[in-house]
Amino acid sequence: MNMPLVVQKYGGTSVGTIDRIQHVAQRIARIRKTGTQVVVVVSAMAGETDKLVKLAHQICDNPERREMDLLLSSGERISSALLTMALQALGIPAISMTGRQIGLQTDSVHTRARIKQIDAKRAQQALKENNVIVVAGFQGINEKGDVTTLGRGGSDTSAVALAVALGASQCEIYTDVDGVYTADPRMVPKAKKLDVVSYDEMLEMASLGAKVLQIRCVEFAHKFRMPLVVKSSYIEGGKGTLICEEDSNMEQPVVSGIMYDKNQAKITLKEVPDQPGIAANIFGSIADAGLSVDMIIQNISAEGHTDLSFTLDREELNEAMVIMEKVAKKIRAVNVSADSKIAKISIVGAGMRSHSGVAARIFKSLSKEKINILMISTSEIKVSCIIEQKHTKAAVNALHTAFGLDTKPTPIKSIENKNSPARKKSKIKKK
Ligand code: ADP
Ligand code: ASP
Ligand code: MG
Repeated sequence: MNMPLVVQKYGGTSVGTIDRIQHVAQRIARIRKTGTQVVVVVSAMAGETDKLVKLAHQICDNPERREMDLLLSSGERISSALLTMALQALGIPAISMTGRQIGLQTDSVHTRARIKQIDAKRAQQALKENNVIVVAGFQGINEKGDVTTLGRGGSDTSAVALAVALGASQCEIYTDVDGVYTADPRMVPKAKKLDVVSYDEMLEMASLGAKVLQIRCVEFAHKFRMPLVVKSSYIEGGKGTLICEEDSNMEQPVVSGIMYDKNQAKITLKEVPDQPGIAANIFGSIADAGLSVDMIIQNISAEGHTDLSFTLDREELNEAMVIMEKVAKKIRAVNVSADSKIAKISIVGAGMRSHSGVAARIFKSLSKEKINILMISTSEIKVSCIIEQKHTKAAVNALHTAFGLDTKPTPIKSIENKNSPARKKSKIKKK
């Protein structure tokens, strides 16, 4: 007899305290009693991963990535063991598993490894023995047997990969908001919940900063056509947001969302000789280190020289600066500087393809707020601007209004239990 199988992932705030862990255990026990098999993927308790990162940075600025992986993977091990104990205390047979035990094999790119395959034999055996499996998300092992992690927010990706490997019908992502919104509902009180979002749009939203889902999780789900549902672990029975294949009946508004990303940094090389091969030198060294550059601008300055700026993830800034200082000497740039007080604001919408005037409207509404634009980039379905980070909230709200996305204000307390200790803690410092 084939029992239905569901894969559920609970994020950091959803397992942020012992109370929350017990609450999640009760939810799982209820589903288990309906005869459904459950594989659960958990994140570290809210704040834990950040705490571990800070510990490492008290020792050095650029810790070895291999060691970071071993350190950071411990957060998820703790929450998986605790949730398993909570299930067992309710009389539900359960077993915790690390990335290694669940057979999640990755490449060797420490701190942002990619999943190669999952050897699900042990998981299948544990399911046969009637267990709920509680998997430590965000981690795997490489071919040497070393622990790897999948990048921040990577438990989402562990969940989708397991759903695919075990043949689940869908993957449910439980978090602290009740779905995907037109903008981060914590930043834009008038943001609207979306019932259905296509994989393509979700991919764009995730890569532009809507951290409700990790980018790779959406890529994986798209590749294997695994339906994803984002729901709140605080509310019973909500429909959440379904992320699935685009169908012709799906509405295609010009703009479907406004995203922001404060996790960006800008590096500027001043007075770089304006000669062939210089850009190749700069960006070749960055690529060789496995770092990815996002936006690039080049300004002509004094005769025969140019200023060149580019953005990248803030986590990669220290490493990139070490490289750029060496490159600057080699190419005789006058100076290298870094700015991490920036934010990227993006407007996303598949309908933009057939509409003009989007960029003009963005510039007009930002200028009304007296917000200066430092860099701009566009693609078929998005426009992104770099601005000073202190203007993020004003910019996102102004654009949300300018593109007609506002709805009646959604009080935060209607989408979650505001008084939960996990939420209070996460307000001070999210993971
Ligand atoms: P988890 O710990 O459950 O993985 P995350 O903090 O990673 O949760 O993601 C959930 C958060 O994503 C929400 O609290 C919300 O503030 C933020 N978020 C950003 N953009 C969006 C969006 N467009 N829709 C919903 N949530 C968003
Ligand atoms: N704990 C990891 C992080 O904070 C992974 C995750 O939560 O998905 O990024
Ligand atoms: Mg997350």
